Amino acid sequence: AAKDRGKGRFAIYDDTLERTHEADQQLGADLRQALADERFTLAYQPIVLLPGGEWIGLETLVRWPDARIGPDTFIPIAERTGLIVPLGSWILRTALAQLAAWNTEFGAVAPHHLGVNVSARQLREPGFAEEVGDALVEFGVRPNQLVVEVTETAVFDGGVALDTLVALKALGVRVALDDFGTGHSSLGLLRTVPADSLKVDKSFVAGIGGASEEAVIASAMIQITEGLHLRAVAEGVETAAQADTLYELGYRFAQGYHFSRPLPPAEVRSHLLQRQLARSSSARN
Ligand code: C2E
Ligand code: MG
Ligand code: MG
Ligand code: MG
Repeated sequence: AAKDRGKGRFAIYDDTLERTHEADQQLGADLRQALADERFTLAYQPIVLLPGGEWIGLETLVRWPDARIGPDTFIPIAERTGLIVPLGSWILRTALAQLAAWNTEFGAVAPHHLGVNVSARQLREPGFAEEVGDALVEFGVRPNQLVVEVTETAVFDGGVALDTLVALKALGVRVALDDFGTGHSSLGLLRTVPADSLKVDKSFVAGIGGASEEAVIASAMIQITEGLHLRAVAEGVETAAQADTLYELGYRFAQGYHFSRPLPPAEVRSHLLQRQLARSSSARN
């Protein structure tokens, strides 16, 4: 430890490094324990149709028991320690069990599709596509209701990931390229990756009010997706003005705080109940 080496010139630097490493190790151990105790939860954020805002699907987002620590902090640690593999399996199975329950209770009103984020490490795990296929059968979920969300970086991590995506597509599962536009060689990737949709990163959406460069890029992205027959989903839509501009640009799918925050399952259910009620009362009238 830096302390043992005395008050050297680099003691503070060393100390900082050490604290970070120890904090990471502590969090890694806590993650493992939380998984064993089933203390993670899942939140679901609606993906909506523009311009009306009707729910079309949901994205699954994992939550640590202490809400101050978000997945941007703990997922990278879970990836480094390998815990993402069992954690990811738990997330997939829990999300599919939840979707099956919504399908049973709500039928046509249930979400048409459910996104699940999958990290590079999971994609490279041998047998991942088989695991997904088995889970779909076990929970009785139609493969085309599941959308596997992967980042450009995860796909670039090697040919194995690409093979896995091809195997998932063969099952009928949909693939979304997440945080699109933030990685490298985004456009070249579109020729090789069997994607169904692009999730245009929130950094482009944030700047679309006015004649910004982001607006130009957001506009170019919708043209590309239309030409390639892909869906574009705009992420991180926070204002009505952004939603209006996106619609004018040609976007038909959006996600963001303007429409809804990620919700606990009970709140998703009460929204679906309301929709079901609205449907049956309009059918009676
Ligand atoms: P992501 O997959 O791009 O998820 C979207 C993130 O944007 C979520 O953050 C969501 O809460 C946030 N968001 C949604 N609407 C808005 C908005 O209007 N404004 C802003 N500023 N943010 C918005 P979250 O839940 O903190 O997740 C962060 C990232 O962590 C995710 O980015 C994803 O890469 C990763 N992640 C989350 N859940 C999982 C999971 O179950 N498995 C894996 N492997 N990664 C996950
Ligand atoms: Mg995502
Ligand atoms: Mg994203
Ligand atoms: Mg992200």
